[in-house]
Amino acid sequence: MTRQLIACEECDVLHRRVALNAGCAAHCTRCGAELFRSRAFHIDTVLALTLGSLVVFVIANAFPIVTLEMKGVRNGSTLFGAIETLYREGRPIECGLVLTTTILLPLTELMILLYLLIPLRQGRLPARFRLYLRVIQAIRPWGMIEVFLLGVLVSLVKLSSTASILPGVALWAFAALTVLLAVILMFDPRHLWDLAEELAGGHA
Ligand SMILES: [Zn+2]
Repeated sequence: MTRQLIACEECDVLHRRVALNAGCAAHCTRCGAELFRSRAFHIDTVLALTLGSLVVFVIANAFPIVTLEMKGVRNGSTLFGAIETLYREGRPIECGLVLTTTILLPLTELMILLYLLIPLRQGRLPARFRLYLRVIQAIRPWGMIEVFLLGVLVSLVKLSSTASILPGVALWAFAALTVLLAVILMFDPRHLWDLAEELAGGHA
């Protein structure tokens, strides 16, 4: 049990923080507003999901997403290959958008999560904790791997009448990555604030 005080955001009544069971919330005794919620996650779970996502991310980018076979000619492309093609065809804006939303931002979020979670798990507060947490919260809405996957699937269905399509390893990896990232998204980074506060004894 931690002995911190917490003020109600609605009416300023001070309450003593108590340990909650998983999934429970504490409410103000005067006005009934929610004071805080228990963490419905374990830091090891988020860390494992993050590490798993990074491995799947590498697989998704290292192998062809799909191989098209048309009149005996096979042509496969990785995500990065497709981005390069966009650039060579004189579409720098599309190239930048795809590169940012499918590679740079998801990778940045996973790396920052890893950077924050490993020291926190060991009971240390990582340097520039607040800054990195804000960065995660800012870039989160811009990772769009699921939109990309949906686009690939729609294109494949359209192409299936003119070419034979062999799904590549990366297509499955992107599907797995979409699920993993969705689970990580259920984890609210604000819980890391609570954890950091506990570590700093209420002075973070
Ligand atoms: Zn209140």
